[in-house]
Amino acid sequence: MLENWHFRVGVYSEYVCSPEDLCLLFNAAGELLLNPQNGELLHTGGYSGLLRSLPHDSAYLGTWKGRPLYAVVSQELAPAVHGRAVSLREVLALHEPEQGCLACMGKQLLHWRQQTRYCSACATPLQEKAGERARICPACQALYYPRINPAVTVSVTKDNKILLAHNRSFQNNVFSLVAGYVEVGESLEQAAAREVLEEVGIHIKNIRYWGSQPWPFPSSLMLGFLADYESGTIKPDGVEIDQAGWYALDALPDLPRPGSMARKIIDSLLTENAPDTAQS
Ligand SMILES: [Zn+2]
Repeated sequence: MLENWHFRVGVYSEYVCSPEDLCLLFNAAGELLLNPQNGELLHTGGYSGLLRSLPHDSAYLGTWKGRPLYAVVSQELAPAVHGRAVSLREVLALHEPEQGCLACMGKQLLHWRQQTRYCSACATPLQEKAGERARICPACQALYYPRINPAVTVSVTKDNKILLAHNRSFQNNVFSLVAGYVEVGESLEQAAAREVLEEVGIHIKNIRYWGSQPWPFPSSLMLGFLADYESGTIKPDGVEIDQAGWYALDALPDLPRPGSMARKIIDSLLTENAPDTAQS
């Protein structure tokens, strides 16, 4: 999907942002600032006023269409300089997929750099590691790479109905697939089975991989699975999930907005581009 993107490592401290370079600008709340000239995600270095010295926590993403690309937190810019702020979820729903991927990459790298400043073994301030996307401790040589936390989401079907659940953290009446983080020592399939059992009391079988996508909230990789009902009666855990049920595809409740892995899986079921064909 990222056919226009290339990453070539170098010495991080040598990176500067020239007027021809590209930037993704994030505000302090983690929203993306659109280019007011064209409504696009990408700004040029010259336009954004971020020349020569990038803030320490800026992230070099690589090149896009041959031009260096950075993610920058633009707290210092005057409001008039930048355009409308949009959430990353809105970006994933509305913008074309490749730029959405770049935005996810930028968000995750900024988060990693902001959260990875000191060695957790000896508390020494970290330095950039030449030749790799990593930071290194100058005292004990410990290496710190961007961390990705795997999570799974599962579409469970029974008699042409799909299992959907409402999470207490959802702000509205949206129902989605069961999802959760992979625990240490688990396979992805074990995590999928455990999450469904924990959250809604259902045993599942025939678990098949569907696809994956970066999920920078703040640093996950979401892996989608399909599964069949095996046994049990729906019983929401009352902690994360307060409602759940089996829904016919022609009578679905409010769904997550487009762009999420769960919505992609549900859409694929709706268009009959489904389980078995989606993998091939
Ligand atoms: Zn150290």
